[in-house]
Amino acid sequence: MLMSKKVVIIGSGFSSLSASCYLAKQGFDVSVYEKNESVGGRASQRKIKGFTFDLGPSWYWMPDIFDKFFADFGKKTSDYYQLDKLDPAYKIFFTDDIITIGDCMDKICIEFERLEKGSAKQLRKFITKAQNNYDIAINKVVLKPGNSPFELVSKDTITNIDQFFKSISGEVRKKFKNPKLVSTLEFPVLFLGAKPSNTPSFYSFMNFADFGLGTWHPKGGMYEVIKAMHTLAEELGVSFNLNTSVDKINVEDNKATGISLGKTTIQADIVLSGADYFHTETLLDKSFRQYSDTFWEQKTFAPSSLLFYIGFNSKLKNIEHHNLFFDADFEQHTFDIYDAPKWPKNPLFYANFPSVTDKSMAPEGCETGFFLVPIAPALEDTPELRKQYFDLIMQRFESRTDNLVKDSILFSESFCVNDFIEKYNSYKGNAYGMANTLMQTAFLRPKLKSKKVKNLYFTGQLTVPGPGVPPSLISGKLASELIVKSLTQNK
Ligand SMILES: Cc1cc2nc3c(=O)[nH]c(=O)nc-3n(C[C@H](O)[C@H](O)[C@H](O)COP(=O)(O)OP(=O)(O)OC[C@H]3O[C@@H](n4cnc5c(N)ncnc54)[C@H](O)[C@@H]3O)c2cc1C
Repeated sequence: MLMSKKVVIIGSGFSSLSASCYLAKQGFDVSVYEKNESVGGRASQRKIKGFTFDLGPSWYWMPDIFDKFFADFGKKTSDYYQLDKLDPAYKIFFTDDIITIGDCMDKICIEFERLEKGSAKQLRKFITKAQNNYDIAINKVVLKPGNSPFELVSKDTITNIDQFFKSISGEVRKKFKNPKLVSTLEFPVLFLGAKPSNTPSFYSFMNFADFGLGTWHPKGGMYEVIKAMHTLAEELGVSFNLNTSVDKINVEDNKATGISLGKTTIQADIVLSGADYFHTETLLDKSFRQYSDTFWEQKTFAPSSLLFYIGFNSKLKNIEHHNLFFDADFEQHTFDIYDAPKWPKNPLFYANFPSVTDKSMAPEGCETGFFLVPIAPALEDTPELRKQYFDLIMQRFESRTDNLVKDSILFSESFCVNDFIEKYNSYKGNAYGMANTLMQTAFLRPKLKSKKVKNLYFTGQLTVPGPGVPPSLISGKLASELIVKSLTQNK
């Protein structure tokens, strides 16, 4: 009987919450242990003086994945939160121009044609192929647990095999000449954590997610999704223990028997961790770890980030809900992240103002601002460096948007490498896990099931399918399916 089996889950990020719901639905007795004061992990939220800040994710992409998650429990997203499609989806600032991405292909094609004659036709072809890849990726590839290369062998993947060995960067450049359009089409794969020249062109499905499915906003912010999943989990009987750091995973006869919280021991039949994979393995005695320090050192990690959460005492002009500042050298910045890690001289950055479309995010007449500079993990992080980049970003923001912001800043808080390590036990302070490169895809990623300890499982952005909120939802589902499968097989 699964009902009598006890599962402890480490962490309460998207992947853990997802797994907790699936396992509770199967009848397991599920308890979540989270080191921080609230659930959500990297997707936590803070409210400061009436301003609401999502601390991590802000782009709600692939709404179909969220719909499928809630449908698995007989629910709809609208049972928990209101979802609005953004128009424009986002704006990109270049040195001498601005590209606005509308909420449908017709609007986007007009914008492409303005920059490059004939590009609209190319774009429609490109997105049709991207849609086909999306169907294969989302309905077939990402639903596999990553146990073996044979999972990927199907008529669809074999027909498209060439797309795994060409880069998205090369494909985009073959079809589009205008460098601004090239950057626009390379942007979505940045969510996968690697540079476009190192990401297979099959991942153009992210372009379909962007232009084909659109950018959405849950009213009240991304944390509404965490709240919804937390509520659902509690409705299904999951219990939550906050401010509770797990210190050890206990193993007897090569079998996980539970966890230790200081001197307290919690017995369990199954241990599932949604904390960063590297950190989880440090909770085991060395002989039970599957991956060495050298293994992790050699992996391509998604970037870390320098983040600023700012309350503005007035409305800002010329901005949208999502804004990308590509008024700097894209290649140089990615080189500084991946090839020769260092603080970038002149970084690209992202600015999010959810109060532009959602009044509930800021006090009347004010603006909530979130600024993100992607940087290499493990960089030196000091107050002086944060201040230097704050000044640089504000100055660039002012000149591109024609706002005088410095006098309207009520408060500003920062978050960087040291905080990622301290708050989430993040490996080297990575912001969003391990990149999806060709050599770090599917069965080549760290496994959902421990090869050394029976009844120990992993979920989250460092395992399959990879970084991002939608993949984390899927990861929780995959881990729960493996747990159910192994128990029903061993009956
Ligand atoms: C700044 C930023 C922006 C992002 N933007 C987007 C976006 O716009 N769209 C998108 O789709 N994705 C985005 N992402 C990625 C997305 O947020 C993540 O992929 C996803 O939230 C990861 O979920 P997870 O469950 O794998 O891990 P986490 O959210 O990291 O959850 C792990 C949890 O484990 C807890 N934990 C760690 N160690 C222990 C321990 N010893 N004991 C108990 N608990 C422990 C941590 O506190 C944490 O709560 C962004 C991420 C960041 C950081």
